[in-house]
Amino acid sequence: MEEAVIVGAGPCGLSAALELRKTGIDPLLIEKHNVVHSIYLYPTYMTFFSTPELLEIGGYPFSTPNEKPTRLEALTYYRTVASRSALRVRPYHTVTSVRKTSAGTFELDVVDRFERRETVCARRVVVATGYFDHPNMLGIPGEEMPKVSHYYREAHPYAGTKVAIIGGSNSAIDAAMDLFKAGADITVVYRGEQYSPTIKPWVRPIFESMVAKGYIRMMFRSRVIRIGEHSIAIDADGTETELENDFVLALTGFRPDRSLLVSAGAKLDEATGTPLFDPDTMETTVPGLYIAGVAASGTNANEIFIETGRHHGTKIAEHIADRVRGGG
Ligand SMILES: Cc1cc2nc3c(=O)[nH]c(=O)nc-3n(C[C@H](O)[C@H](O)[C@H](O)COP(=O)(O)OP(=O)(O)OC[C@H]3O[C@@H](n4cnc5c(N)ncnc54)[C@H](O)[C@@H]3O)c2cc1C
Repeated sequence: MEEAVIVGAGPCGLSAALELRKTGIDPLLIEKHNVVHSIYLYPTYMTFFSTPELLEIGGYPFSTPNEKPTRLEALTYYRTVASRSALRVRPYHTVTSVRKTSAGTFELDVVDRFERRETVCARRVVVATGYFDHPNMLGIPGEEMPKVSHYYREAHPYAGTKVAIIGGSNSAIDAAMDLFKAGADITVVYRGEQYSPTIKPWVRPIFESMVAKGYIRMMFRSRVIRIGEHSIAIDADGTETELENDFVLALTGFRPDRSLLVSAGAKLDEATGTPLFDPDTMETTVPGLYIAGVAASGTNANEIFIETGRHHGTKIAEHIADRVRGGG
């Protein structure tokens, strides 16, 4: 019987593990891919908007000569912290459901890459599964075509092609600027009235100038309504237009999957689907079942990020340690 199992070894799951360690509990982390897999999937040459100290976990210094760390530096930092502190990570294992037993403990159904199944028993479970596996789908005809991606990695494959980017967030703006350097013909299709206030303030003037110079086509109040092999249909402020197109990057954000919490009996807010939890302890409505990181966010998945979600582990560890001390 494990004292605590953490599902997901992203920055917030790792942070929760390090905080639990400080209380004398050595948790098992079960991770679908490998540590910080979401960061691995981010754009290859991405730079974080956070300064390195705001991404630190467990008190381990994150040193870099740069003002803001790159994706590669973050991958190195988190995997080094995990290995130097000898965290018990079981990579390439997916938790498919969590059950509360009549004894008040938990059973986790786990499957590996080769479909081998096992059950792991634990007194406490922390769900830190993030959101990056579940992009917000557009729900339009053609979305399933191979020319459509909900992730952007790097510009090279798009050189000399016509690319439509759907969305107006930092991901969309960064991808558009990157693609321009590689010689793609870019149209950004955004439903907003004007630029999103969340765009990094140091990026926005550069992007606006690229639009003003005609390097990037920016369409406000617009939605892609159909994707075909060689074109897309856009509803632009009520008027339908057809645009030649080779690739669609639907960078419309992500939403956390609640299925593990639901399988364990945790209650969600009926209107928003947000999990109900005590913000002081991060415990859900099921005693002993906790939530950490972006998995705890509501309808706006960007309300929690590494800077904030890394602190959830401290609250969880204090609460579990109190319970253990109290014999619970
Ligand atoms: C392009 C981009 C730039 C960003 N820049 C910043 C920044 O500068 N600063 C900042 O603070 N935040 C930033 N963020 C946000 C930040 O990356 C996320 O908030 C952060 O990854 C959340 O961490 P997490 O541990 O909660 O979830 P994740 O990092 O998503 O980790 C969840 C882990 O759980 C695993 N998992 C999922 N389901 C299961 C399962 N059933 N069984 C086992 N394992 C499972 C996943 O494989 C994953 O490894 C950025 C996000 C993006 C997309």
